[in-house]
Amino acid sequence: MVNNNQVTQTISLEQYGIKNAKVKYQLSPKKLHDIAIEKGQGVETSSGAIAVNTGEFTGRSPKDRFIVKDDITKDRIWWGDINIPFDSNKFDALYNKVVNYLSSKELYVRDCYACADENYKLNIRVINEFPWSNQFASNMFLRPTETELENFTPEWTIVNAPNFMAVADEDGTRQHNFAILNFTKKIALIGGTGYTGEIKKGIFSALNFILPVYKDTLPMHCSANVGKDGDTAIFFGLSGTGKTTLSTDPNRSLIGDDEHGWTNENTVFNFEGGCYAKVINLSRDNEPEIFDAIKPGAILENVILNNKGEVAFGDTSITQNTRVSYPIHHIENIKKPSIGKNPKNIFFLTADAFGVLPPISKLTPSQAAYHFISGYTAKVAGTEAGVLEPQPSFSACFGAPFMPLHPSKYAEMLSKKMVDAGVNVWLVNTGWTGGPYGVGTRMKLKYTRAMINAVLNGDLGLYNYNDYHIHSVFGVAQPRSCPGVPTSVLSPRATWNDDEAYYTTAFKLTNAFRENFKKFEAYCSEEIRRGGPQRYAF
Ligand code: ATP
Ligand code: MN
Repeated sequence: MVNNNQVTQTISLEQYGIKNAKVKYQLSPKKLHDIAIEKGQGVETSSGAIAVNTGEFTGRSPKDRFIVKDDITKDRIWWGDINIPFDSNKFDALYNKVVNYLSSKELYVRDCYACADENYKLNIRVINEFPWSNQFASNMFLRPTETELENFTPEWTIVNAPNFMAVADEDGTRQHNFAILNFTKKIALIGGTGYTGEIKKGIFSALNFILPVYKDTLPMHCSANVGKDGDTAIFFGLSGTGKTTLSTDPNRSLIGDDEHGWTNENTVFNFEGGCYAKVINLSRDNEPEIFDAIKPGAILENVILNNKGEVAFGDTSITQNTRVSYPIHHIENIKKPSIGKNPKNIFFLTADAFGVLPPISKLTPSQAAYHFISGYTAKVAGTEAGVLEPQPSFSACFGAPFMPLHPSKYAEMLSKKMVDAGVNVWLVNTGWTGGPYGVGTRMKLKYTRAMINAVLNGDLGLYNYNDYHIHSVFGVAQPRSCPGVPTSVLSPRATWNDDEAYYTTAFKLTNAFRENFKKFEAYCSEEIRRGGPQRYAF
């Protein structure tokens, strides 16, 4: 149900330098949905959701994401291509331009927070140029109660002006769009792009600094759910590897689909209040919970509708990155509040387009640390037919673009927590089987789910030597059988029917692992280095 409760109070934006704005404060999702449609910024779909186009950008723009270099950040941030420094005077000048631009406009403002655990709560005020961006904030952040709203003191501010265009030479940006974090002023300044993911990942990046630096808490780019016995599972993985898909499981309560913290009080909590699922090729048969979450209140992005207002989920003419955001309560089986105990199992999801990693394998603590620092997945080289060469892609901590500190900081925290909590760590290849991209096929979702269920139900213990096989190239423990999965699928080599091609490709991947790991070697113990693949090409 869309929340119709209307907050009547309003607020002034003068303190932000925004003058004479017509402030629409804390509108209900329904109201925002209606306004966006009235303004021609969206259309209602047959299931009652709103469909919008985010404009020029249909994904994040990592090269235009900056962090203001100041006393708080200068010696702490891992500066480089990922965390690009921004001058603090330039920030002030650009901020002034943006708030001038926003002055006298109709603006949508909402107070909300991040972090489901009271002790970590981060109050946020979101100021949007567009009503649907504000509805996105309502879906994705946590929603304060009316009492909480009465005493609300915002700590961070998101200023979001998609139609404001920066002038690179004057403003210190790379081009017209930017997402800049300022830790001293506690502002996320986003302009020139309407892609909503910048809003959620802006706060995620801020928390990835705040939590480890000030609260000794590990932030993680992962999804999480909890079983009937209270056992928590978390799923790390880069975009498209299955965090949202696999954590949404009718038999387990969802904690969250993307961003979590692991505390020293042995709990895991969600940062968010909603989910942001990919909808490319979505079907009710394969993913009924996500499909049914697309109802009033949900926002579809960059999808194509037919003349009955139905979504053509296979149509990628705008982008492959079609999305839906919805508040977490659109999923039936959720954990309230979004907090679980220490994880019992951790899954590292990877979409290996080389098709050489086993569909599931168990990692030793050193292998777990090695794979976490490596953060491997693959990018399929374009989508045109005949392109057979996948590109390996490594992103430290399975989320480098959002991690302001050096990856070793997060890896140390995770390693310690994994050992203390005695968790089992599994590497799951949700990518290709039977050959690389172009030759083989994507792993069936049904099989991946069966493998994960087997782990969670204790049916894949790998206690006896006969239960598993140590992979000769990757050194990981590959189970010999798994309920609900044909045995032939469990051995990637067997699915290829061509040992020479399999090993040649596997060595290509291990060489890429080795090449990538060079930049972390100096920061890692011998034990972690030993967690890497066992064999490389000559
Ligand atoms: P992001 O960080 O961008 O939100 P994500 O890790 O949450 O990414 P998902 O949204 O879960 O990724 O996307 C996984 C996609 O891959 C979905 O479209 C899903 O239907 C598809 N898919 C196909 N086969 C599998 C499989 N075996 N396991 C998981 N997902 C699969
Ligand atoms: Mn996701």
